[in-house]
Amino acid sequence: MRKKPDKAFSILLIAIIVFFSFDIDSFAGQYRQQRQEMVENQLKGRGITDNKTLEAMLNTERHKFVPSDYKRIAYNDRPLPIGHGQTISQPYIVAYMTEIIEPESHHRILEIGTGSGYQAAVLGEIVDQVYTIEIIEELGKQSIEVLDKLGYDNVHVKIEDGYYGWEEHAPYDAIVVTAAADHIPPPLVDQLKDGGKMIIPVGSPFRVQQLMLVEKDGDSKSTKNLMPVRFVPFKRADDYQ
Ligand code: SAH
Repeated sequence: MRKKPDKAFSILLIAIIVFFSFDIDSFAGQYRQQRQEMVENQLKGRGITDNKTLEAMLNTERHKFVPSDYKRIAYNDRPLPIGHGQTISQPYIVAYMTEIIEPESHHRILEIGTGSGYQAAVLGEIVDQVYTIEIIEELGKQSIEVLDKLGYDNVHVKIEDGYYGWEEHAPYDAIVVTAAADHIPPPLVDQLKDGGKMIIPVGSPFRVQQLMLVEKDGDSKSTKNLMPVRFVPFKRADDYQ
């Protein structure tokens, strides 16, 4: 007596599983294809050539770092809002900032401005250890959760004002700052290795800023303007009091 409904139920269950696994796979395939197109058109097409950077951009699932309403357009050629008035940079800018610091597999990198955790994940695909600091607690907590879920156990997030860097793990091979400061924070230069590179947008908040490359050479540093950019402001702990 009970056999029939059981069988029908099993068939239905199998059909549901097949349908959903097909669906999930096709979504994953769709996102991968979007990443391939992003790499070809937005990155290679604009002169990004470093293979490690291109590979990391191809493998990092940007759609998992953006709010669900924006997943569909996660790979578009634009920055996206991530809540709390902050943004995840356009893919090209993430790739550019990654390529310019010449990341190597044995490197230890510091990022200021974790935001969604995406730039840190891209770096984490390439280098040994990434330390990243976020000043907004909710964003820091969210990125810890996402990075943990995706298995980035070489990316470490701290919730604090990043102006003072993360002394404990210094010196760094490179430092990536993803919020616009009105000057280059001296503690960050101090925590850079001799010969290390820092990339940082410098200028007034809510205006066009200069993306700058800072190279440390003993007690001195050289700076080079790379391109005009628009980043969210580098805040200070006092802004929250
Ligand atoms: N790299 C991020 C984008 C960050 S937007 C990503 O891939 O998503 C810039 C981030 O810098 C924001 O989240 C902002 O809260 C953070 N920020 C601004 N000032 C900061 C400071 N002093 N210390 C640490 N984080 C800061």
